[in-house]
Amino acid sequence: MSDCLFCKIAAGEIPSTAVYEDEDVFAFRDINPQAPTHILVIPREHIGSVAEIGADNAALAAKCLEAVAKIAEQEHLDSGFRVISNCGPDAGQTVFHLHFHILAGKPMGEKLV
Ligand code: AMP
Ligand code: ZN
Repeated sequence: MSDCLFCKIAAGEIPSTAVYEDEDVFAFRDINPQAPTHILVIPREHIGSVAEIGADNAALAAKCLEAVAKIAEQEHLDSGFRVISNCGPDAGQTVFHLHFHILAGKPMGEKLV
């Protein structure tokens, strides 16, 4: 999508601090970190959110989660991490390109689930 922030970041048109990339997936540090380690993992191809995952693009979502595991190893997140994907207004999604937040580096405190 031409006016999507994360499409532009994945294409290198907007700078970011990359931590992982392959053919299908791009990961970079969140500009407003909510934990000592806060990384966003996105598919290079535009998918709006988890609500848009279907049979045609589920493999890309799975590749994002495969990348999460690789990043956790690479970043030595040995004491644990949380993976979050906000979907829609009630969840507070602000960028409408599928992304998985990886949060780590401190005890997470209150849990929703
Ligand atoms: P969400 O609110 O779940 O849609 O998450 C969007 C995330 O994107 C937020 O945590 C923002 O801090 C982050 N963000 C927005 N713009 C940028 C950017 N240019 N580079 C890195 N992270 C960004
Ligand atoms: Zn996009």
